[in-house]
Amino acid sequence: MSRPGVEARPALGAVRSVRHASRVLGASCVLLVPFLAWCAGTEASKGTRLASAEQTQPAQGRDDELSSRPVPHDVREMLREMNPRNVESTIRTLVSFGTRNTLSVQDDPARGIGAARDWLRSRFEAIAANTGGRMTVELQSYVQQPASRIPVPTVITNVVATLKGRQPESEGRVYVVSGHYDSMCGDPVNPTCDAPGANDDASGVAAVLEMARVMSTRDFDATIVFMAVAGEEQGLYGSTYFATQAKAAGRNIAGMFTNDIIGSSRADDGSWDPFKVRVFAEGVPTAETATEANTRRSVGGENDSPSRQLARLVKDVGENSATGMKVDIIYRRDRYRRGGDHIPFLQQGYAALRFTEPHENYAHQHQNVRTEDGKVYGDLPEFVDFAYITRVARVNAAALATLARAPAVPGNARIITAQLTNDTELAWDANPEPDVTGYEVVYRETTEPLWTHVIPVGNVTTYTVPGLSKDNYFFGVRAVDKDGYRGPVAFPKPAP
Ligand SMILES: [Zn+2]
Repeated sequence: MSRPGVEARPALGAVRSVRHASRVLGASCVLLVPFLAWCAGTEASKGTRLASAEQTQPAQGRDDELSSRPVPHDVREMLREMNPRNVESTIRTLVSFGTRNTLSVQDDPARGIGAARDWLRSRFEAIAANTGGRMTVELQSYVQQPASRIPVPTVITNVVATLKGRQPESEGRVYVVSGHYDSMCGDPVNPTCDAPGANDDASGVAAVLEMARVMSTRDFDATIVFMAVAGEEQGLYGSTYFATQAKAAGRNIAGMFTNDIIGSSRADDGSWDPFKVRVFAEGVPTAETATEANTRRSVGGENDSPSRQLARLVKDVGENSATGMKVDIIYRRDRYRRGGDHIPFLQQGYAALRFTEPHENYAHQHQNVRTEDGKVYGDLPEFVDFAYITRVARVNAAALATLARAPAVPGNARIITAQLTNDTELAWDANPEPDVTGYEVVYRETTEPLWTHVIPVGNVTTYTVPGLSKDNYFFGVRAVDKDGYRGPVAFPKPAP
């Protein structure tokens, strides 16, 4: 039996986990630094404990307490270029259009959603002009017939900027990052009331625009779509149109992020959490089939949807000194009584996440701008934090850069169940990308939220983990490229 290699990553696990790891591994606890002596002298290696950021202290911008995956130099540079002043400028411009309600006027150059649409298009086009044709900008429009919160036929337009991937084997793999540029006051069908929408959701649009600016000057293997959608407040109309069109066209959207209400880290009660972002990730897939549900009921997997794997990657590469942020994965699709533009993507079977500030202030969402008893209501720029928004954008950009450079999720990953055995046999299809150098098997106890162990297994498509029963652990497999980029984990299906 060959011994898997050991990847050099420091472990930050708690004692409980370390003890457990040692018992499981039997083990070359090479990276369990404080406990090295305790582990020394054992021989079999079943992998290396991964850093577990969940078990570290809150970020507060400190490198030594964060996940240890090194940030590639050019990604660090890219994140540094992201500038709060640009974020501020975008938000103030969007607010200056008075209202961006989807039902507002579309042909006034100074007020209404049409003015916002045209301005966003010009901004994306200015960015695309520097890309030698790699980025293209389009308005995706359709007429929404009367429906909930749509009293009259209404043109809904998404502003879509597409940065084409450089690798032929990967350019058909698409990542979408979006915010919604429509807004509302207290009444969602009032087309004329002032609806500044600085946080909801000029913040998300500003983040997307700043990502487009810095990412458009870099190379990525896969394609990235930077998008500002309309109709969110009326019922997710713009994102629904994009997602259904994409599905009908057979597009491979390998991951989608919506940034919605990422503007402030201060709650109504004054509590403040400026180095944290919430990432909502569904467990049981919205689009799960009956067959998939049967498998899940039989052997589990409710914590291993493609969206959860995507969220784990965001946490893995988004928590570091270059972002200064901690990523809190929330185990639900969205907040109570509310939804977002990731949901139409989930409905089409695509993995998708929602980024949102850690605490919300409801006095500054969906409110008519007014002062009552000395308290100011309304979604105004004075209540958003441009530096915070930029940090959230950096988390997005770090994750997108990794996703668009890393190999795809290995296809057809399966856990071989032909025999009852205490070893675990895994198999998957070879990735198509020419720069794939190998694969990693990851695993964790069934009660762990994040992958805890990794086994580099080389450039193979089958691997048997000796002495670890598939009954007792969750396993996954991911591909690694020549630059060390790791894609999201494939959660294997049982197969004979
Ligand atoms: Zn919103």
